[in-house]
Amino acid sequence: MKCILDLDKEQLRHYLATTQQPPYRWQQIWHGLYVSYFQSWQEFSNLSQDLRKELEQDFSILPFTQISEVRSDDGLTHKVLFQLSNKNPIETVLMQYDQRISVCISSQSGCPIGCEFCATGKMGLKQNLSSGEIIAQILYFSRMLKEQDLEITNIVMMGMGEPFLNYSEVQNALERLNDHEGINIGARRITLSTIGIPSQILQFAIDFPQTNLAVSLHAPTNHQREQLIPINKKYPIEEILKAVREYIHITNRRVTFEYVMINAFNDNHEDALLLAELLQNMLCHVNLIPMNNTTAFSGLPSPIDRIQAFQKVLTNHHIPTTIRFSKGTQIQAGCGQLAGRLS
Ligand code: SAH
Ligand code: SF4
Repeated sequence: MKCILDLDKEQLRHYLATTQQPPYRWQQIWHGLYVSYFQSWQEFSNLSQDLRKELEQDFSILPFTQISEVRSDDGLTHKVLFQLSNKNPIETVLMQYDQRISVCISSQSGCPIGCEFCATGKMGLKQNLSSGEIIAQILYFSRMLKEQDLEITNIVMMGMGEPFLNYSEVQNALERLNDHEGINIGARRITLSTIGIPSQILQFAIDFPQTNLAVSLHAPTNHQREQLIPINKKYPIEEILKAVREYIHITNRRVTFEYVMINAFNDNHEDALLLAELLQNMLCHVNLIPMNNTTAFSGLPSPIDRIQAFQKVLTNHHIPTTIRFSKGTQIQAGCGQLAGRLS
């Protein structure tokens, strides 16, 4: 059955026209879905019983079922595993700290890129998610938070998958998340993270100049990056950075680079100098992320003193940095730990 969340406004209006409904009905449905967060057609009390029945026959509201969930002991991280009707998994993480309520959403079930250090990559690609399946992850938590009078403040597309390999659905989802008549989360409070696909970075600059971009760099040379990220052979560092410079030129926005720190692999003094050189005079910020352990990868996280020494080199070159310890690693909810199962 089709999911109503996969329809944009135009498609919903078109559907209603075919059922001889007055044009304003689309707004009632839209409001019910994206402002009231209804999850069954029976909750739409302002629609006639007949129309509710018809909608019920034609569309589902929930595109997946929640299989299980796990909360960290401090209660700040909450990971949920959903399952699509074909049993493919989706994981979503809610994080409540630093005065923010952020949701980390997935754009694919699994990921085809296969980065060595990433549990999602090791699953391979199960499928692309539709825009409705992406949005439903947000609606799930919006419903839950509403009961406590709370609202999502930030969205990061950093869960499972590479969003630029599923761009048209991601694009539809971002438009819907941003919609003033619906979910209404400001573009500046949304961040998309990519492994770095140059043509898509440029397209994103044109389509979403206000949405934040994070690029997963992780190494200062192609030789090192290729060992971690197979697609670097196709899209080497210099092409990614050329696209990022163009992105900054178009949007005038600061780009975040993510750099997973792996002991004695990419955290040497020489690596820091090379990275500083690459990013010189760029409107950017570097997040240094101690690698989270995943079962498939033999590398170890850098110890804090090496991370701090690395950071110092960047600071001396006037490159702003933050050391980011992933939250939720205790429940395997940290970056790169989403493996489609709850452990
Ligand atoms: N595919 C996109 C978005 C999802 S991954 C991307 O790669 O950017 C989100 C972030 O988690 C990326 O920066 C990724 O490099 C990071 N990540 C993956 N595995 C990790 C690990 N084991 N430890 C820390 N961060 C990891
Ligand atoms: Fe895919 Fe990102 Fe994981 Fe690489 S780090 S395998 S691109 S999800």
